[in-house]
Amino acid sequence: MELNGRTAIGFEEGRSSSAKWFDDLTRVRFAGPVSAHHRLLPRELSPETLAVHAGTYEDPVTGCVGTPVFQTSTFLLDDASYSAFADGAMRDVPIYTRYGNPSQWAVQEKLAALEGSRSAIVTSSGMSATASTIFALTNAGSHIISAYDVYGGTYNLLREDMPSTGREVSFVDPNDLAAVRAAVRPETQLLFFETLTNPLLKAPPIGALAEIAREANALLVVDNTFLTPVNMRPIAHGADIVVHSATKYLAGHSDLTAGAVVGRRKFLDRIWAQTLRFGGTLEPLSCFLLERGMKTLALRVERQNANATEIARFLATHDRVAAVHHPEVGGPHYADLARDDYRGFGGVVSFEVRGGDDAALAFMGRLKIPYVATSLGGVESLVSMPSNTSHSSLTSGQRASIGIRPGLVRFSVGIENVRDLIDDLNDALNGE
Ligand SMILES: *Cc1c(COP(=O)(O)O)cnc(C)c1O
Repeated sequence: MELNGRTAIGFEEGRSSSAKWFDDLTRVRFAGPVSAHHRLLPRELSPETLAVHAGTYEDPVTGCVGTPVFQTSTFLLDDASYSAFADGAMRDVPIYTRYGNPSQWAVQEKLAALEGSRSAIVTSSGMSATASTIFALTNAGSHIISAYDVYGGTYNLLREDMPSTGREVSFVDPNDLAAVRAAVRPETQLLFFETLTNPLLKAPPIGALAEIAREANALLVVDNTFLTPVNMRPIAHGADIVVHSATKYLAGHSDLTAGAVVGRRKFLDRIWAQTLRFGGTLEPLSCFLLERGMKTLALRVERQNANATEIARFLATHDRVAAVHHPEVGGPHYADLARDDYRGFGGVVSFEVRGGDDAALAFMGRLKIPYVATSLGGVESLVSMPSNTSHSSLTSGQRASIGIRPGLVRFSVGIENVRDLIDDLNDALNGE
């Protein structure tokens, strides 16, 4: 369509004239939102290819390679905008950047393609994605099942904000399927778990949890931050919604804060509307950085999988290390792990330094390559201790009860040369 002499942004004619989708969960929905200039690729392509190409905005004016930064808060109004307002289809037309922006749509389409689903939103942080999702898909009087060892921010949201808004939460061990089943109530609306937990790297069976959710007529939401769609696509295993802290592997360079939600459009429309009310939209420049980072996602994650595995195996042989937590070195957590479901396990490895927290702190101080910093998933190795960061609000007894023992260190392995990292770890463990 040609409007007011502007180059058409490429919406299909009639797209915005469908029923009022705010309320109608049964109507046929378009994938997206996308414009005709966003690159749509079949979901069967491999993650390496999708990471580079899916969603890219192919600019009809300049032909530039790569998505431009649509650094604007608002867009010219035209007939398409007015009919979008009239029909409640504001998610599909660029009107105002909190509602949508072609920079967001480019990275959203890349994410939807990578997770093998139809629709995505990007948000200002992982917590924004999680909070919008949980609030959008539950209501007062409902019940939620989650894990006692989910990410701290998620745990606080579930523990503090759900009861105060009329939602009850049960915390269980997602590897104990009988306990998950026993927690189901008639009013259960949502199960929320992580595909790989922090810091002990437990990998609950997503397919079996999806089965329980289906029987309970509830939705399964999973946080796939630690694995990324390169290693596992939870929607293919029956999850309804995937959330991410895109701050970590997706962006991959420790230089931005962002979140994402992926799933079927009928759920995403609701979550999008919640995000609008919470105000958690992602800025165009951050979308650009996120999309650029994601082009190398498959390469980075593959290297991080390999580096972390090699480091975990090295640590398991070192006599100053009391325990290593990583699926590739085995242990009781992983007895029932369906390894074929995973391409790898990401770049995090946790281990206990003999001598407790003081010895671990001294060990970290001797490392020359990794930065001592919280967070994970960047190209640079980062090392930190749960006991004085993410889990510092727990007593040592509470930490022990969830398996965080004295001396535990979390290593987020980067893309550096693995021999350099192992030599550094070896020297620091040996007190050099
Ligand atoms: C970091 C993280 C979050 C929160 O993400 P932010 O981008 O910091 O808001 C949620 N889940 C997991 C597993 C994380 O590691």
